[in-house]
Amino acid sequence: MKKKYRGKCLCGEVTYVAVGPPVIVAQCHCEECRRLSGTGHSVGAMFRSDSVSLSGKLSQFSYLSDNGSQVTKAFCVICGSPIYGKNTRIPDHLTLGLGTMDDAEGLAIKVVIFQRGKQHWDQLGRDVISFATQPDWKPEG
Ligand SMILES: [Zn+2]
Ligand SMILES: [Zn+2]
Repeated sequence: MKKKYRGKCLCGEVTYVAVGPPVIVAQCHCEECRRLSGTGHSVGAMFRSDSVSLSGKLSQFSYLSDNGSQVTKAFCVICGSPIYGKNTRIPDHLTLGLGTMDDAEGLAIKVVIFQRGKQHWDQLGRDVISFATQPDWKPEG
C-alpha cells in the first residue's frame, strides 16, 4: 500500500493529499526559496502531479529561473503559506513544502541544492549530498 501524506496551510483553507513515496526530498538554498520562505532554505518533497490532490483557493506567482525554465509557486490566498512549486524543466511534477505536511514520517532530506546561496546564518544538514546549483537530474519514468 502506498503511503498518503496529508497537509494543510496555516489557516486550513488549503489542504492536500499526496500519494507516496515522493520522487525526492530536497533542501534548496536558492535566493527565490529564501525570499519566498522568509528563512534560510526550503525543504520540499517532489511528487508526480497526478498523485497529489489539492483543495482550497491558491494564488500563484511565476518567474523565469536562471536556466530559462518557468517556475510557479502556489500559496494560500488567505494566509500566504507556500504550498507547492513546479518547474517547466520537470513537467508533470510538483514539490510540496515539507513543513505543510501533517506527518512526514519516513521522509528524509536526500540532497541539498543551490548550496552556493546558503547564508552564513543557515545550516546544512549532515550526511546529505549537496550541489552548488541544480544538478542535471530528472525523475525517472
Ligand atoms: Zn491558508
Ligand atoms: Zn529553491
